[in-house]
Amino acid sequence: MPASAAPTIAIIGGGLSGLALAIFVARLLPDATIKIYEVRPADQPSSWGTINMTPNALRVLDRLGVYKTIAPQGYNFDNLTMLNHNLDLFASVPIANVAEFGYQSLRIERRLIHAALLKEARSKPQIEILYDRKCTGITDSPSSSTVSITFSSGETVTADLLIACDGIHSTVRKSFVSDPAAREAHFMNQLSIGGFITAAEIAEYSPKNVTYPIMMFAPESQTGANFMLWPYTHDGQNLTFFTTLPKETEEADWKAAYDDKQKLKDILMETFSAPDSPWNTLVKRTIELSDASKYRHWAFYKHTLPEKFYSDSGRVIIIGDAAHAMPPSGGQGGAMAFEDAETLAYTLAYTLRDSNGSSRLGSATALENLQKWSDHRLQRLRTIAELNARMTSLRKAGNGFVGGVLFAVKMWVIWIMSWLGVLGRTRRAVNNYDAKKEAEVLFGEAITKME
Ligand SMILES: Cc1cc2nc3c(=O)[nH]c(=O)nc-3n(C[C@H](O)[C@H](O)[C@H](O)COP(=O)(O)OP(=O)(O)OC[C@H]3O[C@@H](n4cnc5c(N)ncnc54)[C@H](O)[C@@H]3O)c2cc1C
Repeated sequence: MPASAAPTIAIIGGGLSGLALAIFVARLLPDATIKIYEVRPADQPSSWGTINMTPNALRVLDRLGVYKTIAPQGYNFDNLTMLNHNLDLFASVPIANVAEFGYQSLRIERRLIHAALLKEARSKPQIEILYDRKCTGITDSPSSSTVSITFSSGETVTADLLIACDGIHSTVRKSFVSDPAAREAHFMNQLSIGGFITAAEIAEYSPKNVTYPIMMFAPESQTGANFMLWPYTHDGQNLTFFTTLPKETEEADWKAAYDDKQKLKDILMETFSAPDSPWNTLVKRTIELSDASKYRHWAFYKHTLPEKFYSDSGRVIIIGDAAHAMPPSGGQGGAMAFEDAETLAYTLAYTLRDSNGSSRLGSATALENLQKWSDHRLQRLRTIAELNARMTSLRKAGNGFVGGVLFAVKMWVIWIMSWLGVLGRTRRAVNNYDAKKEAEVLFGEAITKME
């Protein structure tokens, strides 16, 4: 059966990348039918927690039409202050600023970004969001003109094109790569635990003239190696705090093991407030005063990059954490998901834009365009993964005496990197990415004329 002119596009996962992609595609391919299948229930469409968005992500959110809604809801800042465990200032590291990048950095509740995207997606008649749909498998073959998708209810649907946005433990990734076992997400022996506090509660322990957010390091790993305090509301009055701890074993079920919120608080009390703890009063009082019921934990996982982000048929594509999850320590996973979404939308629009667009799916031209996009994104992700690995090792604890030596080295590394401008180069590499300009480099001025 010949494919109809306007493609039907199934998106698995209505998280950050799924919604962003749907909005861009609806705009660039107005005739496409887009269905998002999301496992969550409609009344709980987003996960919780706070997230940091750097200018590369905010540029995408601006193009999506949601930046002006979210910026006044979160904490906008330029610098990250680095202190040691005695609250001595080590460095004030610039993260972003309007003059250089067009945006400050933004820390905000994840659900607020999600809600703004959801509102935008719902305003597009081509987009339908179906909740309580757990994808359990897909069937895709180069000889077929559609992809079939199966759900836990037993229901099966087909689409001309499927885009997997189903997160780090992606079901679609396992159905589509040649070596699913090698592509399983694996535990990185690190765990973050954190909670919430107000500025008023810790005001008397905060050092004067220190600008938030702050990141603190200590030498003794047994007593905690790092502690962050990060405002996430516009007025700076509400803060999230967290630390990253080494964890040798992977619990079979993290949720069950750590659902006891008081236990999470106790771990931080034991880690930071032991009698021989070198940590300052700000950290100790933040933990003591915090509400145990609001504690959260995240185990760090990552998976190896596949050699390409699309199937041999060209009808299954993966983006976001499904394609390339990285640990949260670098704070770039969401940004990469947004960059993927915008660049992929241009690639699809460039490939399918005219009257018989969907008949071109799976053609040599379509595969060539996907390869260009996928190679470009892989190159970008390798750069970011390298920067991310540096950040993760800065947050990793050492042990005993070695921890002490490494601590001094670590602080010098931060200082020297900052002095030599290495952090400046890193900042520019992260922040300056402009998805539309990158698509123009890949596909020429046809992209410039879009929209
Ligand atoms: C603690 C923590 C802090 C982080 N901090 C930052 C940060 O500061 N900055 C940053 O840029 N990134 C950060 N990240 C990373 C960021 O959260 C992710 O990279 C981002 O959420 C990826 O978006 P996504 O849409 O690909 O996946 P997700 O946001 O995970 O969305 C996947 C969606 O797919 C749905 N789904 C899953 N399986 C199925 C299925 N089988 N069928 C149907 N639907 C399914 C899920 O319910 C979900 O809605 C952090 C991550 C963590 C864990």
